[in-house]
Amino acid sequence: MKLSLIAPCYNEAENVLPFQEAVIAAFDGCGYDYEIIFVDDGSRDATLHNLKKIHAAQKCPVKVISFSRNFGKEAGLYAGLQHADGEYIALIDADLQQPPEIVRNMVATLDAQPEIDVVAAYQDRRGEGKILSFFKRSFYAIINKLSKVTLQPDASDFRTFRRSVRDSLLNLTEYHRFSKGIFAWVGYNTQFIAYTAQKRAFGKSKWNFWKLFEYAVEGIIGYSTAPLRLATVLGSVSGIVALLYLVWILLEKLIWGIDVPGFATIIVLILFFGAMQLFCIGIIGEYVGRTFEQTKNRPIYIAKEVLTYKEN
Ligand code: UDP
Ligand code: MG
Repeated sequence: MKLSLIAPCYNEAENVLPFQEAVIAAFDGCGYDYEIIFVDDGSRDATLHNLKKIHAAQKCPVKVISFSRNFGKEAGLYAGLQHADGEYIALIDADLQQPPEIVRNMVATLDAQPEIDVVAAYQDRRGEGKILSFFKRSFYAIINKLSKVTLQPDASDFRTFRRSVRDSLLNLTEYHRFSKGIFAWVGYNTQFIAYTAQKRAFGKSKWNFWKLFEYAVEGIIGYSTAPLRLATVLGSVSGIVALLYLVWILLEKLIWGIDVPGFATIIVLILFFGAMQLFCIGIIGEYVGRTFEQTKNRPIYIAKEVLTYKEN
């Protein structure tokens, strides 16, 4: 098998068949064999039903993995990687936002240039609002400053890579899977190409501003321990300031005999430091929570059904 296309699907009932047709059209006459691995991520619509029909027809080699509930796209990709037989593996959304023809070009690049291991597409940001664009830029600036890995701004998980990369990705068994970080962490020679995301064929995106925000926090906590140092920094700075202030008050009292009226100051300081302490405990909590999740050692997903095909 030359190429495995992994398509995670969550409530994509109307999209899966057009997606398969688009793939078949794109790879028509390409001269190599390919398979599609659909991962049904606990969809609540007719996605699984439609996938089973596609699987029964086998217009091209199709595998279907169906999860016992919604585990998230990252878990879907992991399951797909485990079942991928291809020499090359492509990750692609099932909503037709990412044209399969681009995968064909990615494969051609990998064929032509043995020194490249990954061809990754990043999204042209032209169609995006100014505010979102600003937040995204800030996110990449912060995470690249704080963590040891460097994330390519806007690099999506729309990419094609060699089998060695797939093996490395599977070795990262963490429960909280932040794919942008995982790809950067495993390294390999990556070529980035720009692409313009198409409009979703049917249905709506599972992302909104808060989900993106949570995802950004996930990335920063998952790939840097710098926030943990915030408590130390704040503590040291305020300790020094407090000491200086103490010296100042003593001088005022002892030398100049001024009584220091300080009710308002005390309240403000108590509130301020109370807030800082809670904030820092909150940050520590984020890390402790993730450690807890990871030590439970639960599987990344549960597949209730895996449909494969017979190799001929
Ligand atoms: N997806 C998934 N599980 C989820 C959410 C999304 O498998 O919990 C799939 C979804 O079906 C699609 C892909 O991940 O194929 C990208 O999702 P979406 O289109 O919502 O994201 P966007 O393209 O807006 O970034
Ligand atoms: Mg989409």
